[in-house]
Amino acid sequence: LAKDAGKNRYRMFDPESDRKSQEQRKELEQLRHALANDEFVLYYQPKVSLDSGDIIGAEALIRWCHPERGLVPPGAFLPLLHGTELENAVDEWVINTALAQASAWHDAGLSMRVSVNVSAGYLLAPTFYSDLARALQCHTNVPPEHLELEVLETAAIADMGQAVAIMQRCRKLGVRFALDDFGTGYSSLTYLRKLPVDTLKIDQSFVRDMLNDADDLGIVEGVIQLATVFERQVIAEGVETLQHGAVLRRLGCHLVQGYGIARPLAAEAFPSWCRQWQTDAAWHTLGEAS
Ligand code: C2E
Ligand code: MG
Ligand code: MG
Ligand code: MG
Repeated sequence: LAKDAGKNRYRMFDPESDRKSQEQRKELEQLRHALANDEFVLYYQPKVSLDSGDIIGAEALIRWCHPERGLVPPGAFLPLLHGTELENAVDEWVINTALAQASAWHDAGLSMRVSVNVSAGYLLAPTFYSDLARALQCHTNVPPEHLELEVLETAAIADMGQAVAIMQRCRKLGVRFALDDFGTGYSSLTYLRKLPVDTLKIDQSFVRDMLNDADDLGIVEGVIQLATVFERQVIAEGVETLQHGAVLRRLGCHLVQGYGIARPLAAEAFPSWCRQWQTDAAWHTLGEAS
């Protein structure tokens, strides 16, 4: 009801939506508690090179370790945080935690890039830059180049001028940027040229269906060519099978991430996965097979 109410219409009291917003307030309170109580946890999904077989990095993905509900996926609670102060606090926690993890892995002989998803609200928040600089100073053994921030394509173009300015400042620290879910927004070529991003992440919806859908295959091909023209790296997400890997490699996309390589892993499970990956013959001989 309230959704359809235009400027000149009265909002009717709607018990249904009132109950909903009460529930949402309650859940926000629970999320605030979760952050204070250390109930969030990061899983790490590897990114690999199809050419060398090297593990080039890992994307940190948040989960809520709920005392009763178990491991809650981000899609079930992040939308509630959208545009709130708490969203900034959670994003800040994620950056600090991922850097602490990268630092610990570095000391254990596992040095690689970590990627963190950053909401548009936090990227544009006045405290973002100083928070980031401080986080990097806390972990001086992690080269700033090893931190990559993934920003949604749609978020980056919503406030283009601001986003470009803040990204440029952060890049001076050494931090890298990737455009997440690329292809789902309305990024024109002009936008892409202006955005100081190192990497395009081809959205998983196109990757998943590209073997059966000629349009999706065309989009994947197009993004790869776009990346080449604009001299950006390109990575495919949602790579679920070897066959996807083989086709991507043939199209010129050499970096991949997806269930076919590994699901997001608990931090404790990551190092042993890395050792196991080195012995995975199927993915390591992909180049020879195709
Ligand atoms: P995203 O950044 O595009 O991350 C990729 C999502 O796809 C992850 O879901 C990942 O688990 C899933 N995925 C990876 N490979 C495959 C695959 O081969 N097949 C399928 N079907 N799915 C795959 P997840 O962890 O549920 O995260 C969903 C979204 O929530 C993320 O999309 C990201 O936008 C957001 N998100 C996750 N963690 C954070 C965070 O710490 N901060 C912020 N601001 N957003 C986050
Ligand atoms: Mg991402
Ligand atoms: Mg994505
Ligand atoms: Mg996504």
